[in-house]
Amino acid sequence: MKKKLKLKKIYKNLLKIIVLLAVIACIPFGYRMYLENQLLKLKYSKEATVEILKQKELETVKKIGYNETIDKAFSRKEFQKKYLESYLEIPFVEHEDYFENVHQLLDLGYSEIEVSLIITHGSNDEVKKFLTHEKAEDIKAFLSIDFAKLENYDRYVNYQIEERKDEEETVLLVNIGFDRPFYENPTIINSYSTTILVNKFNQLKEDFIPPDLVSVESPYAVDDDQKLQKVAYDAFIKMAKDALKEDLHLMVNSGYRSFTDQAGTYQFYEELYGTNYVNRFVTKAGFSEHQTGLAIDVKARDVNVFKTSKEYAWMMENAHLYGFVLRYKENKEHITGCASEPWHYRYLGVEIATYLYENNMTYEEYYVRFLEVK
Ligand SMILES: [Zn+2]
Repeated sequence: MKKKLKLKKIYKNLLKIIVLLAVIACIPFGYRMYLENQLLKLKYSKEATVEILKQKELETVKKIGYNETIDKAFSRKEFQKKYLESYLEIPFVEHEDYFENVHQLLDLGYSEIEVSLIITHGSNDEVKKFLTHEKAEDIKAFLSIDFAKLENYDRYVNYQIEERKDEEETVLLVNIGFDRPFYENPTIINSYSTTILVNKFNQLKEDFIPPDLVSVESPYAVDDDQKLQKVAYDAFIKMAKDALKEDLHLMVNSGYRSFTDQAGTYQFYEELYGTNYVNRFVTKAGFSEHQTGLAIDVKARDVNVFKTSKEYAWMMENAHLYGFVLRYKENKEHITGCASEPWHYRYLGVEIATYLYENNMTYEEYYVRFLEVK
């Protein structure tokens, strides 16, 4: 009996020891979970958390709290302690070589603000290319402008030296293309939408024909040959019908023009008036908005000079409500590259047309500021 009790006691103690050993064995594991949880709670990613603990930087990171650049630096295994203060001031962008680029820019002596501007105004490859550039002293003046592009930096500098315009206007005009001659190395347009930008820097291909061309019937056209893209056509007819209620007669004088038509027109005027004239008043084939089917030269039925008509005055006040803008205004030739054309309207949709109307802005400027995507 006594022996049995003794044995039971031994078993009991043994069990206690086993449990204790198990608990001891689990402590480091539990402790690690506890540390990891602190970082995960701060919203650090699992990958970053593992790396932070491995590099024994828990206390540093805890002091900072969550920071996306720090998170990515650890998760991409690119963290270098000497750049710690800089990471805190430079936003993270999804570039493949983000950390390599940032480290190199900092090493070149760019400030955190400058590095931030550089990486947010160019692609990964553009930043890499910029790294081969000698240290730029006035990068902040240009890149502080929202729509500035890193890839155009040298063009901004050169254009400003030549034209002595302020930074914002320099960026605007260079982004449009004004530091280069008309028609030289244009951007070739590859997609079609109602917001397409066609001008002396953006060219449509010879075989480009807009989808859904519709014939404009009498009495809304000067002859049977006028066509418009369906959306522009519908908007124009709606506008013309509303104008008619006020006894105003709007007609399409010229709508869609093919590449070949435009080439013929250009040649005709060049032979008649010479190169200087056509450069200012006629557009080369591929560079005319008329090839989009979204542009209309408007005519008032009973008046020859559109600008003197009541229809002109009415359109100046109302066209935007139907999605049309007067495309080539007076005093805007330096932005549009075209002399004033009181009759040339462009369909852009009500939202953009209204914005341009209310802000007295050209489409080039709107496009560069808000639509241009990399
Ligand atoms: Zn026109």
